[in-house]
Amino acid sequence: MSPTTPKLAVIGAGAKAVAVAAKAAELRAMGVPAPDVVAVERAGVAANWQSGGGWTDGNHRLGTGPEKDVGFPYRSSLVPRRNAELDERMTRHSWQAYLVATGGFAEWIDRGRPAPTHRRWSQYLRWVADDVGMTVVNGEVERISVHEDAGNQRWALHTAEDTVYADGVMVTGPGQAERSVLPGNPRVMSIAQFWHHAAQHERISAERVAVIGGGETAASMLNELFGHRVSTITVISPSVTLFTRGESFFENALFSDPTGWTGLTLAERRDALARTDRGVFSARVQDALLADDRIRHLRGRVAHAVARDGRIRLTLSTNTGGEAVETVHGFDLVIDGSGADELWFVPLFTQDALDVLELGMGGPMTSESLQESIGDDLAVTGVHPKLFLPGLSGLTQGPGFPNLSCLGLLSDRVLGADLTHDPMRRLDEQQSVR
Ligand SMILES: Cc1cc2nc3c(=O)[nH]c(=O)nc-3n(C[C@H](O)[C@H](O)[C@H](O)COP(=O)(O)OP(=O)(O)OC[C@H]3O[C@@H](n4cnc5c(N)ncnc54)[C@H](O)[C@@H]3O)c2cc1C
Repeated sequence: MSPTTPKLAVIGAGAKAVAVAAKAAELRAMGVPAPDVVAVERAGVAANWQSGGGWTDGNHRLGTGPEKDVGFPYRSSLVPRRNAELDERMTRHSWQAYLVATGGFAEWIDRGRPAPTHRRWSQYLRWVADDVGMTVVNGEVERISVHEDAGNQRWALHTAEDTVYADGVMVTGPGQAERSVLPGNPRVMSIAQFWHHAAQHERISAERVAVIGGGETAASMLNELFGHRVSTITVISPSVTLFTRGESFFENALFSDPTGWTGLTLAERRDALARTDRGVFSARVQDALLADDRIRHLRGRVAHAVARDGRIRLTLSTNTGGEAVETVHGFDLVIDGSGADELWFVPLFTQDALDVLELGMGGPMTSESLQESIGDDLAVTGVHPKLFLPGLSGLTQGPGFPNLSCLGLLSDRVLGADLTHDPMRRLDEQQSVR
C-alpha cells in the first residue's frame, strides 16, 4: 500500500462498512486508486444483527429484501467506461453469490426467496468482509479528536487501547441499545436488556407493558412481545397514530434511486420521509398489530419516569393545539425502545473536534443544521477532514442512505469523495448541497 493512500476509518463494522470496504477492494483490484478502509468495531463484524449486539435476538427477519445487498443497485458511476466491470465484480459479493458459495441457493429459491433472519444476514456480511479482507481494529471508539500532522488535519479515533488516525471518518449504526429512562430499575428494560431476555428464552410476564418508541426498533420488539404473557401493550410515541410505512413501487423506488430527491423542496422531502421512514411500522408488523387486541397507542413524549408502589409512572408530554399537556400513566413493565438516536456519536467529539465541525459548518451544530449540511458525498459540507454521516443524509440526499436500501450507491458517494484538502473540490461540494 502506498504511504500516500488516504485512510477512511469507519466507526462500526456493520453493513455500511462492509459495503464500502468491498467496493474499495474491487477498485484496487481493477488498478483504480481507493482509500484504505479501516473499520473500528467494539463487538464483531455485523454484531448488531446477532443476539448480544443489543438490537435483535438474531431470529427476527430482515424487513427489506436480501437482494438489497452490499452492491445494490449495481449501478456504479465511479470509473468512467469501466463501471460495468465494477458492477460485475461487485456481484461476486451479492446475497445470491453468498447462497451459491454456501450451498443454500436452490433451497432459498424453492422456499419462495424468504427474508433471512438477522443472524443469517450477519453471516452474509461476515462472509463478504472475510472475502475482501476488510481491516478491522477491535475496540470501542470512546473519543474523536483532531490531530495536526505536518500542517494537515486528520481525525483521531481513540479506543481504550489504540488510536486510529484517518483522513476521513464515516459514522454508522443506530445508537446505543443500552439506554433506558430509569437505569437499574428491574421494571424498566433497555432495548439490549429486552433482546437479552428474548435470546435466553426468558418469558416476560406482566399485566400492563409500555413500549416507548414508534419506529422499526419498537416494531420488532412488539413482534417478539406478542409471544409473551402480557395483558396489554401500550406503544408510546409522539406521532398522532401508528402509521404504516408506504411500501408501493413508487415509495420503494425513492429508496433505491434518489435521482429526483434533490429536486424536491425540503418540506416535500420531510413529508416523504415521514410516510416512508421515521416512526412508521412496516405493513407486515401492522397486520400483526391489528390482529392483536392487547395493543393500543398513546400519543406523547416521555418527560419523566419514577418508580412508585411497585409500578413505573411515566409522565407524558403531549402537544395539543400548540399547548403542552402532561399526563401520568402507570405500568408494570416499561421497555424503552428510544435508544436509536442518529446523533449518538456527538458526545464522542472532543471540544477541538467540535470546533472544527462548527467552524466548517459556519454555525452551531444542531440536528437540523447537521442534516441540512450533508452534501452529495454524504459528508458534512465545509468540514475537513471529511466526516461522513450517512445516518443523517436522508433529508438532503435520499431516504435509502441511512439504511440498507442502496449500499452500492452509498459506497460510490463515499469513495468518490476527496479525502485531501483540495480547495477547488471544496467549492464544487458547497454548490452541490441544496
Ligand atoms: C432491529 C433492526 C432491524 C433493521 N432492519 C432493517 C431492514 O430490514 N432493512 C433496512 O434497510 N434497515 C434496517 N434497519 C435499519 C438500518 O439499516 C440498520 O440499523 C443497519 O444496520 C445500518 O447499518 P450500519 O452499517 O449503519 O450499522 P450496523 O450494521 O448496525 O453496524 C454498526 C456497528 O457499529 C458498532 N459500534 C457501535 N458503536 C461503536 C463504537 N463507539 N465504537 C466501535 N464500534 C461501534 C456496532 O457494534 C455495530 O457492529 C434495522 C435496524 C434495526 C435496529
